[in-house]
Amino acid sequence: MPLCCPQCGGAGLRITAALELPPDDRSDERTVQALECAGCGFTGLGVYEESRRGALDGETVNHTAFPADENAFAALERLINSCPNPKDSRCDCASHRRLDQALGGDESILPGIDWSRPRGIEWIR
Ligand SMILES: [Zn+2]
Ligand SMILES: [Zn+2]
Repeated sequence: MPLCCPQCGGAGLRITAALELPPDDRSDERTVQALECAGCGFTGLGVYEESRRGALDGETVNHTAFPADENAFAALERLINSCPNPKDSRCDCASHRRLDQALGGDESILPGIDWSRPRGIEWIR
């Protein structure tokens, strides 16, 4: 199933890089993604969160995109691509630490990402 671009609504949104982070107090699984739309040129930082806590009937999934400018998007891809084990949430490399801090609210790590405008991402069915 393709992802729906939060900006143009088309099916051109792609995950160009992804890195898994350890669980936090809200989520059991967290993935940071670099998102790019082939249709309109939107670039963003994606956060995919899955929680199996507190829900009686399965899991809660949150998939959110934060708009990123060109520099922020390039820096994000560089961070993800410089990790030796992006699929290992227990990896303790500099990229993992920095991305964890960025999601934890340290806006100085990836300047150019608009954290104030989260956009929900949906699958196109
Ligand atoms: Zn688009
Ligand atoms: Zn790493």
